Amino acid sequence: MRAFQFVELQKPAELRELPVPEPGPGEVLIKIGGAGACHSDLHILETPANTPGMSLPFTLGHENAGWVEKLGSGATGFAVGDPVIVYGPWGCGSCANCRVGMENYCESPVKSRAGGLGRDGGMANYMIVPSTRFLLPLGSLDPREAAPLTDAALTSYHAVKRSLHLLGPGSTAVVIGAGGLGQMAIQVLKALSAAATVIAVDTSPDKLETAKKMGADEVLLSGDGAVKRIKDITRGQGANLVLDMVGAKPTLETAAQISRVLGHVTIVGLGGGALPVNFHSPAKECSVASPYWGSIPELMEVVSLAQAGKIRMLVQQFPLERASEAYHLLHDGKIPGRAVIIPND
Ligand SMILES: [Zn+2]
Ligand SMILES: [Zn+2]
Repeated sequence: MRAFQFVELQKPAELRELPVPEPGPGEVLIKIGGAGACHSDLHILETPANTPGMSLPFTLGHENAGWVEKLGSGATGFAVGDPVIVYGPWGCGSCANCRVGMENYCESPVKSRAGGLGRDGGMANYMIVPSTRFLLPLGSLDPREAAPLTDAALTSYHAVKRSLHLLGPGSTAVVIGAGGLGQMAIQVLKALSAAATVIAVDTSPDKLETAKKMGADEVLLSGDGAVKRIKDITRGQGANLVLDMVGAKPTLETAAQISRVLGHVTIVGLGGGALPVNFHSPAKECSVASPYWGSIPELMEVVSLAQAGKIRMLVQQFPLERASEAYHLLHDGKIPGRAVIIPND
């Protein structure tokens, strides 16, 4: 089979020929339908050359869906041919966080390593998933379209859900950055909290146009005008929830300016910025969080929302041989939603 692999630190990933892996006891071999290209892969590819603990090579792709191809001995609950989505962060399965489905916060970082983020992921014809507990049935959803549900959607979903209690009637949520994750956050906000006013902020008029189609009540170009308008809409109080899907210095500054007393500022993007927190900023008793991914029960809810037609991702498909082109476009901000690599067609 062919696989798009991270071979050397600070070198572009390469397409390589590999044998189809054989599932061991409890493992499952998945025939990949789609593997999403995520911004975090760009950060991995730029890992400094002297970083310890990086075991190379491995296949990229931590946002995967496909069909069960082969079950290892003792793996049960699924049949060959079943369409499935793969929960991404693989924990130990036995620590306190793993036992409630939050394998994204596994307490055993030695054992926790996601496919595509340190071990082989889904940008290949096939991938091994270590346990059926990481598989969810997709039902009527097409794995080629559904792959982004497991990262782009799950990450946005978790970021919204933890703040739902702030989003009653009269409340305001601001999404900074209307790329793939931002578009998903807008849809999740509208689906889970229809009473809140949802505002999208971005530097790109095109992305704001998409944000409107995804349900944003108001869209604003980044800058002082956006801050003033948000203050006006919230009668000077600021937003109950600010989701920063970029996480760079200017977006974090905006987030602090539009925060509200007792509100939440949630930093989702890995843009490398830092938010100073003190008595004066963000607003008084405003909580700042930087969540990572989401839980298995939350992925079940995300799949249900997609099956009900309440969330959808703009997907641009690329064959495996064009994976590096997809990453270049992603790097240059030219992917309007999510790039998904389709290794088998
Ligand atoms: Zn990701
Ligand atoms: Zn664990």
